[in-house]
Formats: sequence, C-alpha cells, structure tokens
Amino acid sequence: MTSRFDKLFTQQEPIPEAAIERVVEVLRGGRLHRYNTAAGEASEAALLEREYAEWQGSKYCVATASGGQALQIALRASGVEPGTTVLANAYTLAPVPGAIHATGGVPVLVEIDDAWHTDLDDLRTKAIDSGAKFFMLSHMRGHIADMERIMALCDELGITLIEDCAHTMGARWKGTRSGNFGRVSCFSTQTYKHLNSGEGGLLTTDEPELAARAVIASGSYMFYGLHGAIPSEETFREVRLDNPNCSARMDNVRAAILRPQLPLLDENIRRWNQRYRILEDGLREAPQLRVVERRQHEAFVGSSIQFHASGIARERIPAFISACGERGVEIKWFGAAEPSGFTSRYDSWRYLGEHQPLPQTLQVLATTCDMRVPLTFTEADCSEIASIIREEAAQFANT
Ligand SMILES: *Cc1c(COP(=O)(O)O)cnc(C)c1O
Repeated sequence: MTSRFDKLFTQQEPIPEAAIERVVEVLRGGRLHRYNTAAGEASEAALLEREYAEWQGSKYCVATASGGQALQIALRASGVEPGTTVLANAYTLAPVPGAIHATGGVPVLVEIDDAWHTDLDDLRTKAIDSGAKFFMLSHMRGHIADMERIMALCDELGITLIEDCAHTMGARWKGTRSGNFGRVSCFSTQTYKHLNSGEGGLLTTDEPELAARAVIASGSYMFYGLHGAIPSEETFREVRLDNPNCSARMDNVRAAILRPQLPLLDENIRRWNQRYRILEDGLREAPQLRVVERRQHEAFVGSSIQFHASGIARERIPAFISACGERGVEIKWFGAAEPSGFTSRYDSWRYLGEHQPLPQTLQVLATTCDMRVPLTFTEADCSEIASIIREEAAQFANT
C-alpha cells in the first residue's frame, strides 16, 4: 500500500479579511486608479509604497503592475539602453531575460554553482571580458550568494547592481535585508511569492534621481507627486521629460489586497521556515538525494525547497519525478530541455540570440529538483511529503 498526498501545491492561504473589507470599500468607491484621489487623500497604492519603503528600510518605493515590469523599469532607470550589456545569472525565471530584452539590453549569462548561487569566478571573468557595467542578480529560489564578495566586485569594476528579490522578500544576508545591497531592487507580489495580489511588483532604491526616473517610467504622467515614497519635486523636474511612460502602475485594488498582508510577513516567514526545516530533515535521510547546506550568514525564506537527485541516474530522474507526481507530490525538474509550466532553462530563451554555452549550469540543473512550500501545508503534511519522496527515491536509486 502506498500513500498519496492530496493537497494542492498551488493552494495559497486566503487573503486576510481586513484586505477583503478594504477591497470592497475601494470597489464601492469606484476610485480604482491610483491617481483618482480626492483632494488631500493618499491612494492605497501610495500608502503601500510608504509602508513598504519603511518595512524594507529603503528611502523610496514604486508600486508596479508586476515584478517583471519593476525589473524593466529598474534597468531603464539605472541607465540601461538599447545595446547595453547586462550580466545576469543564468538560473532564473523567464521574466528576467524578458525584462533585459525589453529594454534593448544584451544579457551576458553567468554560470551558477552547485548551491544555485551565481558563480563568482565566472562573474568576474564575464564582467571583465564583456566590460558590462550592469549586473541583474536574481536571488533565484531564495539562495543568496556571498554579498560581500559581490559588492566588492561591483565596486572594483564600477558595476551597477540590480537585485531581483522575487524570492527573497524578507530574507537577509549578514543581517542586511536582501534588496538593500543593490542600487535598485525589485520584488514581486504575484500569487506564488511572499505577498499575494495575483500580480504586482515593488521597486525600491535610496537614490533620488533613480527613484524619480522609476516613478515616471512606471507611468505617472505628471501625477508623480501623488506617489507615496518619493524624492523632492526638484529631482522630478530634472528627469521628468527624459523617461518613457511604460504604463506599469499598480491599481488601488491590488494595493488594498497587499497592505494588510505586510504586517503578517515576519510571522509567515517563520511558518515557511518551520515547514522548510521539516522537509529538509526528511529529505536528508534519503541517501539518493542531496540537500545543500544553507549558508550560515543567510536568513532565508523557505517558500520553496531545492535538492539534487544525485543518486538517481540522469535518465531516470523524469520517471522519479512522475512517480512522486502520481503520489500527489509535485516536484519540478530544472534539467528538462523542454520548458514546462513556470520552469524553463536558459537555453530555451531563443530570442536572446546566439547560444551562450554554460556547461556548469547545465550540469547543476541536470539534478536540480524544486518544490513549492505553500503555507496551507501543515507540519505533518511536510513530513508525509518527505517520506513519499524518500520512498520513491529508493525505488529509482542507482544500484
Ligand atoms: C516571479 C519572478 C519574477 C517576476 O515576477 P512577476 O511578478 O511574475 O512578473 C522575477 N524573477 C523571479 C526569479 C521570479 O520568480
């Protein structure tokens, strides 16, 4: 008799009642557009910007329609133009190369290491060889690389760091929040991230000019003064005619969905990590699987877990994953040549042009398994999931 897990890996928790009530008020009021305010009134979007800037510990914040749009605006606002070379770690989600491509930037992909971090030696080589002055760093699946070494390299070579914190909202490295290293940082509030408004994004920075450019680029028209966490009017006067309107604003409904979630984030991070530790311990018991040790300096958010199916022959990994799937445990494999669902490997982004060979990344991804950790799972669910994966891994073990 084999057990089957029957909860959905895509099921999020309900939106807090306080948010639902506020959304209904916004809907009844009819003023859904963020600049549709009465005299002296701050919109939900502006309030969210103020609250998120404070939570993140950044001076400025811009709410956007999606995380991908925040990335694109961050690139533009920091000076990426058609033809500009942008370094990017190759293990990331498709909106990242998509955002670089949309600005006309030319991505130079960087290898990752066995623990899914940017390979810092390859970063140095590619930075020097390409002469790139921009690095879009995705903290993919929440794994934060050695930020001290990255910052030192960026300083040495005059590289602007843009952080993609879609999986690290609330995470820290040596006590500093992820998102407070780069000149500009981006977050996503898409359903599967750490705050859920269906779609949405946030951009943060401490630099006034960059903030003003980002507000204008988000599509503020000349209503930039209605934003919640912005630099002085004078800064806007200097840049307001130099930036395209990318029409990527967040509306008041989404902002109202998000505001009551923000005070719950720290507690949710604790709940994610509790679940993560149970899965991690459970998977460590399987000799066929390798869970990479998280770094001592990294305070991560365990909203997903990765492991290497290192004791299973490459050609049998898809069968192992389907066997887990048949028992209700949804694992994604980053080694697949064909993109599927949300998961795609860098070599499927054909629009980037000439293929950039990254043998080390391919090798790491060949055994990389990935699983979501929704908060709707209980701790008992996590033990059960780990035991199903262990049993299936034993079935597919190399002999
Ligand atoms: C989700 C995600 C994004 C973009 O977010 P959207 O809000 O879906 O546009 C960017 N980078 C990574 C790594 C992501 O997972």
